[in-house]
Amino acid sequence: MAAGFQVSDELLGTFIPIAVYWIYSAIFILLGSSVDGYRLHPKGEEDAKNVVSKFTVVKGVLIQQAFQVAVSLLLFTVINDGSGTSQRPQPPSLMIALQLAAGMVVLDTWQYFIHRYMHLNKFLYKHVHSKHHTLVVPYAYGALYNHPLEGLLLDTCGGAIAFLLSGMTPRTAIFFFSFATVKTVDDHCGLWLPGNPLHLLFSNNSAYHDVHHQLYGIKYNFSQPFFIAWDKIMGTYMPYALVKRKEGGFEAQPIKNN
Ligand SMILES: [Zn+2]
Ligand SMILES: [Zn+2]
Repeated sequence: MAAGFQVSDELLGTFIPIAVYWIYSAIFILLGSSVDGYRLHPKGEEDAKNVVSKFTVVKGVLIQQAFQVAVSLLLFTVINDGSGTSQRPQPPSLMIALQLAAGMVVLDTWQYFIHRYMHLNKFLYKHVHSKHHTLVVPYAYGALYNHPLEGLLLDTCGGAIAFLLSGMTPRTAIFFFSFATVKTVDDHCGLWLPGNPLHLLFSNNSAYHDVHHQLYGIKYNFSQPFFIAWDKIMGTYMPYALVKRKEGGFEAQPIKNN
């Protein structure tokens, strides 16, 4: 094909996760007050405790996504040798499953250590990662409210490395990146909804990540977006109990060992 982009799997892998982000977030907005009984923070704390407005957050996420699209397109242009990597056939399903699992392990490993370093390094925390932590009470579409450098390091680089090391095809990567996006939005949804399949499958979930967004848990539960293994291995795991609040909803309270 002449100059210009085909709608390749690489392009779909760039844009579909962004659509998934806003569609999945929109579902939580539509649920509205019908899920007030499952909140991890009392209603009203979202506005009282978060110092940035929702408009600023939407703007911040859109800027961050635009930045990621630009970097991805630039990478494809540089890497693309005209061989049409999209044409790679899909391997057998067992292989796809193994590649997805490998991608999850790689992404988690990358994100754990970079995320933790952004807390340890005072300069990086102050100028980059603290932006994400302005949301003390997380909500779905605030999931990617990050400094663009954080998005680049954690998500774009992490995603690229997971993609390359796992050996998944660009077609599988569309699903992988979309699923990672759903998981990240869900981890910030601020709700403990009964029967949420992601909560049944993963110990790393909205309550687990909520602990990390609180002052008492900010040096713990760095693992994201899939597993909690690195926190357990590295001694940064904070156990918590979900306690029912009198006025409705649940609260993730740390469990003290002594
Ligand atoms: Zn953090
Ligand atoms: Zn977060």
